[in-house]
Amino acid sequence: MVKIGGLQKMTLIDYPGKVAATVFLVGCNFKCGYCHNPDLVRQTPGQEFISEKDFFAFLEKRKGLLDAICVSGGEPLCNDEKELADFLHKIKKAGFLVKLDTNGFNFSLLEKLLAKKGLIDYVAMDVKASLDRYGELTNIKNDFRNIEKSIKLIMDSGIDYEFRTTVLPKFHDFTGFENLLKMVSGAKKFCIQNFSNRRTLDPRYNLETVFRYPELEKMRDLALKYVKQCEIRS
Ligand code: SF4
Repeated sequence: MVKIGGLQKMTLIDYPGKVAATVFLVGCNFKCGYCHNPDLVRQTPGQEFISEKDFFAFLEKRKGLLDAICVSGGEPLCNDEKELADFLHKIKKAGFLVKLDTNGFNFSLLEKLLAKKGLIDYVAMDVKASLDRYGELTNIKNDFRNIEKSIKLIMDSGIDYEFRTTVLPKFHDFTGFENLLKMVSGAKKFCIQNFSNRRTLDPRYNLETVFRYPELEKMRDLALKYVKQCEIRS
């Protein structure tokens, strides 16, 4: 069974154009210093979880009221393949659209899930930085070429999608941001999310500066040279 660390019972912003709830799965392979869900990434002793039974009982009560369920994290693709696929199937069977949030690192599991016809209706992938900054940003040592493979997979999948980046001056100077945009070149939707320096996984990020709105607008203008649609979420 997947471990459920939180549930937002209604959201109008997580699934474009739909009334949704968001379920947060525990665990992540990245350790982004700016992460706003530290409790999902760094599990703490005595942490309480929501049982799948209670979650599906909640869905039962929301039939006809919600259109969709966003499966977020943490990183959902850190879960066991069968357990995660079963969880998504059960949401679909209950009559809801499924949106999957992912950091795109687990390419092989993403490929398997997207290949299951009708299982996922919308994918939102975080593209964190230009590839050369991924190690520093995520605090893991690895080869990040899977990120590019996942971007291509999503763009070719025929499933509705968006890419999104949490931007902060530390990682997204003009050149770095443009290099990131080259990775998602041709994408139909890209979202710029402004970093908030409150409640971060690494407390040192509380001292990081944030972009001001006019700077975000310039980034959006640059993004529109590479992608068809770009939204600022701040
Ligand atoms: S920001 Fe996302 S990918 Fe990074 S540590 Fe947090 S949950 Fe994981």
